[in-house]
Amino acid sequence: MLYKSTRGCAEPVPAAQAILTGIAPDGGLYVPEKIPLLPLSLDDLPGRSYQEVASHVIGAFFDDFTKEEIAECVAKAYGSGFKTPEIVPVREAGGVQFMELYHGRTSAFKDMALSILPHLLTKAPEKTGIKEKICILTATSGDTGKAALAGFAGVPGTDIVVFFPEEGVSRVQRLQMVTQEGTNTHVFAIRGNFDRAQRGVKEIFTDGTLQRQLAAKNYRFSSANSINIGRLVPQVAYYVYAYGKLLERGKIKEREKINVVVPTGNFGNILAAYYAGRMGIPVGRLICASNENDVLTEFLRTGVYNMHRPFHITTSPSMDILVSSNLERLLFALSGENAKAVRLCMDKLQTEGSYAVSAQMRDALKGFYGGSADMGETADAIGVLFRETGYVTDPHTAVAYRVFQKYRKETGDETVTCLASTASPYKFPRTVLAAVGGNADVEDDFAAMRELSALTGTAIPENLSAVEHLPIRHQRVINPNMMKEEVLEVLR
Ligand SMILES: *Cc1c(COP(=O)(O)O)cnc(C)c1O
Repeated sequence: MLYKSTRGCAEPVPAAQAILTGIAPDGGLYVPEKIPLLPLSLDDLPGRSYQEVASHVIGAFFDDFTKEEIAECVAKAYGSGFKTPEIVPVREAGGVQFMELYHGRTSAFKDMALSILPHLLTKAPEKTGIKEKICILTATSGDTGKAALAGFAGVPGTDIVVFFPEEGVSRVQRLQMVTQEGTNTHVFAIRGNFDRAQRGVKEIFTDGTLQRQLAAKNYRFSSANSINIGRLVPQVAYYVYAYGKLLERGKIKEREKINVVVPTGNFGNILAAYYAGRMGIPVGRLICASNENDVLTEFLRTGVYNMHRPFHITTSPSMDILVSSNLERLLFALSGENAKAVRLCMDKLQTEGSYAVSAQMRDALKGFYGGSADMGETADAIGVLFRETGYVTDPHTAVAYRVFQKYRKETGDETVTCLASTASPYKFPRTVLAAVGGNADVEDDFAAMRELSALTGTAIPENLSAVEHLPIRHQRVINPNMMKEEVLEVLR
């Protein structure tokens, strides 16, 4: 199966090449020429392990990899790096099925994709004839950097360079990155904000001279951000797995539809749920939850995407996004794969900051419901859920929970609902501690973690408590104009 660009002006390529290049040469995103059907029947799902389901789902998309190769990648990704043998536990609380995606190495759902992407990437060169080593470049505002570092550390044939804003990340996030082990990991704080780091990385990607210098060192660049199809496809697997779990437990009957709620930023996670539906999982409504940055809520309700709005810094920072890059893949699908219409929308977004979709596409958006919850509602949702059920959620997950409650109230739809829990509460300990009624006036995030643990009787993930005392391995703080030089320097 080949992968084509959503903008229609690039050659279709096999999966391995789409994964290696990340973005298509015409600026579009790679999508499969045809979304494959689930290679298992629904009644065959109960009882299967996460690894089995993931192998089937990922193998169906990436059919230029052999079954053995996929199984090997899956085994390496979803093994000892996860704190629970179930990989993705599904727990019922407060009338919803929480699909816990945060039990990987960095306690955020980014681990689901970033623990397998490095293994797919290292198998890709032999299929494409590309012989260079791979250098992953990432600018991060927090979670992605650490998850990418943890995923790529020690993976042969790869180096990873991460740039983060010196002033823009929390202490825990900073420590998570600067204590990262592995001789192929390189981490720099830059004097500048996230946008400056991101711009620096983009400049490196498009610098022809630098590419040639790199090729002379036998390296090529690749991307680990969520526009890479190699990050999206592994996420389809957990929706299939969760459906099997609900069948296994008798929560649903075969062919019964489920609704899905997703706290959304770049639209990758919820798009994976849409793909699971296209593969054959009976999906009812896809509920897209936003915080105050509710550009997607408005879009799903009106068909107008308008990024001209105030940018809010919230307690769910991974959803503080005004340009949701993976939405482009949905536009492509819902327009009947009309690349020209997608190009027009994306051009308008770039030049005018907004676009409106056609009436036919607005109609197709009805499978989605958009809703938002502000910081007060989010804190309230965490508190109420904890007091009534003892279950503790992080702020991103709580945004989704509150939107789910609004949806149910508004529509009366009682369909069994699966909710994507995207981070451990301990990644945002101050916010959660205050929301469950603790005293958040503590010295630092680590003290907040201990308070939260004492108050809720839940355990602090070891990977988070450990960073307080791990040796600092990456000390460098650089000016943004030195990013290129540093990349050349580390890739010797
Ligand atoms: C990245 C992230 C999200 C948003 O996911 P998208 O795929 O970008 O929509 C939500 N919650 C957490 C904790 C995240 O790290």
